Amino acid sequence: MITIKDYAIPTNLDEAYEILQNRRNNVVLGGCSFLRMGSKNINTAIDLSKLHLDFINETDNTIEIGAMTTFRTLETSPILQNNFSGILSKCVKDIVGVQFRNNVTLGATVYSKYGFSDLISALLALDVKVCLHRGGIVPLDTFLENKYEKDILTKIIISKDSSKCYFTSMRNSHSDYAILNVALSNEDSKWKIVVGARPMKAQIANRASLYLSQNELNDYTIEYACELACEELVFGSNLRASKEYRKEICKVLIERGIREVIGWK
Ligand SMILES: Cc1cc2nc3c(=O)[nH]c(=O)nc-3n(C[C@H](O)[C@H](O)[C@H](O)COP(=O)(O)OP(=O)(O)OC[C@H]3O[C@@H](n4cnc5c(N)ncnc54)[C@H](O)[C@@H]3O)c2cc1C
Repeated sequence: MITIKDYAIPTNLDEAYEILQNRRNNVVLGGCSFLRMGSKNINTAIDLSKLHLDFINETDNTIEIGAMTTFRTLETSPILQNNFSGILSKCVKDIVGVQFRNNVTLGATVYSKYGFSDLISALLALDVKVCLHRGGIVPLDTFLENKYEKDILTKIIISKDSSKCYFTSMRNSHSDYAILNVALSNEDSKWKIVVGARPMKAQIANRASLYLSQNELNDYTIEYACELACEELVFGSNLRASKEYRKEICKVLIERGIREVIGWK
């Protein structure tokens, strides 16, 4: 159970950031689903709901998504359904249930860099920048590698392109965490292969992505790219699956994805 001593509902980001920095155990609230599972002693809980961070805005070149946007909004957004083969809607649609997705937020998810996250894997296959109130604008892959700084994630910016994308996850049972997830994107022969829930946080398989981008696609090159991805990424075991099992299904899921993207089913 968490305990909260004080509650603040700031009306601008500078104020929210200042409260966050005041004490070590001052904490920003997203949808609170994950926070509630822990046992933190929170001094001041900072509610971001008056900061207008719940939005999905499309321009000619970008899609911006605010930190307080819920998974349900991602799932049902026509903008996201109509871009990137709809993977940002698809990747959240099987997470727990509708009531849960009405609550959990994009900002908390990306900021927390969860290894099991389906959304982070899908985002990593795209060209995404993370906007931090203090830390500025950082590419998502750099943000994921950087060590934690106490900050507020305000929005993400996705560059629009005409890439064909794919997302899939494998679960032992419907509402459980994924034992592996795979996201792919392909634009003008440039491929990105991402694997998450290994169970470590999502990572781009750089060598495999480059190999696929530089070689003509046939049965041999597709299979070799899948092998390369499994060799370059590290897999681990937990109560859901062993690293050996994850590695085996990784090949299968990537191959399915490549074949679906190029229309060779
Ligand atoms: C039971 C359960 C099952 C789940 N299953 C899955 C699953 O199958 N797949 C999946 O991908 N995810 C899953 N998740 C994770 C979920 O999708 C969210 O990623 C997670 O709950 C965090 O979202 P939240 O809004 O609840 O965050 P909160 O609990 O409110 O916050 C989480 C952390 O983020 C910080 N934070 C919140 N907002 C910001 C911000 N804007 N800037 C900086 N820090 C911030 C908080 O201070 C806190 O430390 C599951 C979570 C739970 C509780």
